[in-house]
Amino acid sequence: MGATVSGSPLSGKTVYFPAMSEAGVRVIASAFRSVGIESEPLPPSDEETMILGGRHSSGEECLPLKVTLGDVLKVLVNGKVSAGRMALFMPTSDGPCRFGQYGPYIKGVLREMGFGEVTVISPTCEDGYSGVGEHADELIRSAWRALIGGELLTKLLLRTRPYETAKGAADAAYREALDDFCAAVESRGKNPKERMERLKGSLARGRKMLHDVPADYSVPRPLVGIVGEIFCRLNTFSNDDVVRKVEEAGGECWISDVSEWLWYTNASHIRMLKRFRRHLTLEMFGAKLKWHFQHKDERELHAVFGDDFRGYEEAHDIREVLELARPYLLPEGTLGEMLLSVAKTVYLHRKGADGVLDINPFSCMNGIVSEAVYPRLSRDCDGLPVRVLYFDGTRADRRYELDIFMDLVRDYAARKRTVRVLPPGMRRPAAASA
Ligand code: SF4
Repeated sequence: MGATVSGSPLSGKTVYFPAMSEAGVRVIASAFRSVGIESEPLPPSDEETMILGGRHSSGEECLPLKVTLGDVLKVLVNGKVSAGRMALFMPTSDGPCRFGQYGPYIKGVLREMGFGEVTVISPTCEDGYSGVGEHADELIRSAWRALIGGELLTKLLLRTRPYETAKGAADAAYREALDDFCAAVESRGKNPKERMERLKGSLARGRKMLHDVPADYSVPRPLVGIVGEIFCRLNTFSNDDVVRKVEEAGGECWISDVSEWLWYTNASHIRMLKRFRRHLTLEMFGAKLKWHFQHKDERELHAVFGDDFRGYEEAHDIREVLELARPYLLPEGTLGEMLLSVAKTVYLHRKGADGVLDINPFSCMNGIVSEAVYPRLSRDCDGLPVRVLYFDGTRADRRYELDIFMDLVRDYAARKRTVRVLPPGMRRPAAASA
């Protein structure tokens, strides 16, 4: 079935989304379907992805470009969809790195290969999201709620899976919860209020599914923060499923999610308007309104989970987190994930995390800059273990490297001065409680 948005560039097309994170891409595709735009996640990446992506890139591009290009070509060369019926959702940015070139580069490759009819949509607020037609406002709100709901389920999965006593039970419960949530996002409902109630109902069911997973929380595991380049840290194929590997090595992970990046872009937008003295403009009014409604929706969805995330709270205002980077990188003069990764590492330290992994594509400038400041940051944070990992799509065995990191993490956990607040049901071992 094609899109039902008549008169728009998406008419008769299916929109495909790069598979940044499993939950993220599925819920966003569901939000698009809820307003009548046929949408699908790109299929999971595999070895064919790397062969196709590698064949049509020079080696100088970053891994996320290679993975996304390979996934798009896989769908086209295998005849899953014709070029004329495909649209690709490719966000863009005018930031300091190569990301802004991905869209034009992919368009060029597709043209050269005879797939020039593929529509590449790069949503921006400047064009009023014209590609999604008259439903833009509804879609933006639905997509935000969908994203937050998906992230809350993922957060609960990461809090549950390391403690499960029946292997695979947490993943099975999560998949069921996510299916249920995607169905709730997709069914449009009569009005925003009813849609919200439907989402909350689904999240309550998902929460119960994950609570019912047989688990033993009697010994808290060391908590490892996962920061870094957004695609690489969230795409399990690109990072060789690093979260699961940390869990296998005895840890529990707290991963920075997509909404953190969106809060950052909202904050940057408001800061730029202030810098250019556009305080009293419609644009500023719109940006503040968006900020208000996004917070309201986030609070409402979060409330479904009660105190499940006690000790794992994200900051109420991303600007407070960004300030934490100040001794190392100036928030006013640094752009992108390097700022977020450094700031979040300090934040995680204050929340009692026992170590941080910064995940990046090989040669990513964000990882390179963060890596330069981590030794000083670590000294300032009582020797918190911080390790930068780079990925280039080759499958290296990192168990040895992670085992050493986890030894440092356990050592730090035993001597650290910042006490971590534990969620209900998790107890501090008697010797460590004080
Ligand atoms: S953030 Fe890093 S990986 Fe992503 S485009 Fe920029 S340099 Fe490349």
